[in-house]
Amino acid sequence: MTLTLHDTLHREKRVFVPRDPERVTLYVCGPTVYDYAHIGNARPPVVFDVLVRLLRREYGADSVVYARNVTDVDDKINARATKEGTPIGEVTARFEAAYLDDMARLNVSPPDIAPHVTDHMDAIVAQIGQILEQGCAYVAEGHVLFDVSSYENYGRLSGRNLDDMIAGARVEVAPYKKNPHDFVLWKPSKDGEPSWPSPWGAGRPGWHIECSAMIEETLGLPIDIHGGGIDLVFPHHENEIAQGVCAHGHAHAADAHEAYSRHWMHNGFLTVDAEKMSKSVGNVLLLHDLVQALPGEVVRWALLSAHYRQPLDWNQDLLDQSKKNLDRLYGALRRAAEVAPLGDMPSPEFLEAISDDLNTPGAMATMFALSSEIERAMTAGDLQAVGIAKAELMASGAILGVLLSTPDQWFESGVDDALRVEVEALLAERVTARAAKDWAEADRIRDRLNALNVVVMDSPGGATWRLKG
Ligand code: AMP
Ligand code: ZN
Repeated sequence: MTLTLHDTLHREKRVFVPRDPERVTLYVCGPTVYDYAHIGNARPPVVFDVLVRLLRREYGADSVVYARNVTDVDDKINARATKEGTPIGEVTARFEAAYLDDMARLNVSPPDIAPHVTDHMDAIVAQIGQILEQGCAYVAEGHVLFDVSSYENYGRLSGRNLDDMIAGARVEVAPYKKNPHDFVLWKPSKDGEPSWPSPWGAGRPGWHIECSAMIEETLGLPIDIHGGGIDLVFPHHENEIAQGVCAHGHAHAADAHEAYSRHWMHNGFLTVDAEKMSKSVGNVLLLHDLVQALPGEVVRWALLSAHYRQPLDWNQDLLDQSKKNLDRLYGALRRAAEVAPLGDMPSPEFLEAISDDLNTPGAMATMFALSSEIERAMTAGDLQAVGIAKAELMASGAILGVLLSTPDQWFESGVDDALRVEVEALLAERVTARAAKDWAEADRIRDRLNALNVVVMDSPGGATWRLKG
């Protein structure tokens, strides 16, 4: 399989070749844990989870090292803790736990490494020291600032030119900065703010240095792929490159950026009903609420239904369509429930689509073709063709991270809670009645389940059920 991925820095699709196929490294900027994630925040972890699943299939499960950090040092975290009157560690633990719970509902596999800023303070301080030694940063009024003019390729990732940026700068510039675009590596903490010791005084790191230091310490440089949302290209990732490159004395090498990450990927933005999500508009949809209200696979399918680089509009139609699409695929699998899958490979068409810069809409279309093939072959009684198409459909689903339930579980999940409770209670009574050989009672329960439109399937592992139709 030839995998091509769009590269933000080179502005083109490139064939992906890892530095070491036995250790493919990937880093995605993770959440700042001060609140629940919104649905836009879920797009990067889901998109990059598909990439990781694909890479693991290609290079082997143990040959991919995926890191997604947790930013647990941030002014917004401090503000929340102060407002609530709770310790900072409690705020970060609460929202990290909620995030992981939501990710699990979306079938997002946990990353191999989840570095926390608070656990990597020594590496952060050490990297700032290296950047200073290389003459790419300076100390001013208790701050350490990166000197953007020291890095020749500054602006290369985002396509910005430093001179234009300086001419256009309207930001209010702190008096201690030499250049308006110089950014903070370390800043002093006020009383009551969290702080760590450093050669420049007690304080805390800037946001960008956290990622470059944790990448170097957990994965080693250069990494193969760095990902995140498009809003991170500038300044976050531009600054990460500058730090990662300059810490090692490559500030003037033309291809210095290659020493940090060999490939850059960014997902497009998600809007809600064609509007940017914002607190002031009041249209911020929390992932936490969505995955309570809907099956996680519906949310995941919807997130993958546009190509990851394109904008994605979140609306009721998208959710209805996603549910319908999954019903269709699960429906075919249910029809083929008694046929054993033959093989464990996705179809060649699926692989072709997904390895073309993660073309998820194209990949989904190949899955519909497989579900039609299952229906056709079932009708024709061609069980070998059913087995092959079923295996291909399930293996394709495993890469997109969907179709991971059984069809029965899937069709049960649309049932409202009151009905579920009633059915489960009746099934429990049925077990008791049968054990007592009370056939009249067992018949009464069967009639009641029938009236509820429920089909019961007995198997050695116990009874499962679904709605008729
Ligand atoms: P943040 O917590 O704001 O740092 O964002 C976490 C991740 O979500 C980053 O990779 C952002 O680029 C991404 N992100 C934030 N908002 C959106 C959005 N509306 N659509 C897609 N990605 C987003
Ligand atoms: Zn980052």
